[in-house]
Amino acid sequence: MTDVKKLFDLTNQIALITGGASGLGYYYTQALVEAGADVCIVSRSTDGWETTRAYVESHGHRVEFMQQDITVVGAAAKIIDHCINVFGRLDILVNNAGIQIRNNLLDFADADWLKVIDTNLNALYFLAHEAARVMIPQHSGKIINIGSMQSFRAGKFIYPYAASKHGVIGLTKAYADGLAPEGIQVNVLAPGYINTEMTKPLQADVSRNAEILAHIPAGHWADPSELKGTIVFLASAASNYISGATIPVDGGYLLR
Ligand code: NDP
Repeated sequence: MTDVKKLFDLTNQIALITGGASGLGYYYTQALVEAGADVCIVSRSTDGWETTRAYVESHGHRVEFMQQDITVVGAAAKIIDHCINVFGRLDILVNNAGIQIRNNLLDFADADWLKVIDTNLNALYFLAHEAARVMIPQHSGKIINIGSMQSFRAGKFIYPYAASKHGVIGLTKAYADGLAPEGIQVNVLAPGYINTEMTKPLQADVSRNAEILAHIPAGHWADPSELKGTIVFLASAASNYISGATIPVDGGYLLR
């Protein structure tokens, strides 16, 4: 008989979380640590590192930080190698780091388009690819790519963001198909409207905020902690027969 608690247990698992020391990533880090994992965290700045270190160590787990821009050529191999050198294995990759740039259609700079696609899509591909090199010989692994409601809908002003988040689903399905026979599951967690730094300007826009709330059956923006259960589910043995799926955590937003 299957022990349900064991299905969600991440003891002795190593998780790499891009952008795992701030924003939603910090909540993913907390959730994975609370479920038993040690963590490796990547970001460009050191913002949030000390708070995150204190949190992880207070739970008796190990944390390694790497200051690295994931869009730099060769970064993915460097990041995965570093994680392996420190921890000896990699069980879970959470491709969370992402950016959003808003502009009018004709004012969108080519460089901004490329920056968003490089961060939100290309870097996820390179990291998943390098993670697969490690996970295939282990015959196990979980890759969780972070999507968005913009993986399904597309709005003006955030042209490359919507394109990149649609791309995350395509990348995930292709990699899920390629890696399922190797015992590796690749899935998308697609957060809805979550209360973070990234979404503060949107919440401050009174009419846009009212429009958004009218489309959320749950009637409120989510607290980031409301994503913790889903990330643990997708990172754990509880989701071993789920491949190439997208789980929206959106208070029902996509229903309307
Ligand atoms: P934040 O801006 O709060 O955090 C982004 C994190 O990614 C930071 O830790 C940042 O650290 C890191 N990061 C960004 N660019 C890079 C880079 N090039 N290299 C390394 N690290 C990088 O964003 P959120 O927490 O709000 O969003 C996280 C993810 O969730 C994104 O993929 C976003 O699209 C998605 N999402 C968010 C929603 C929301 O409501 N907030 C809704 C739906 C999806 P640093 O700046 O130090 O590099």
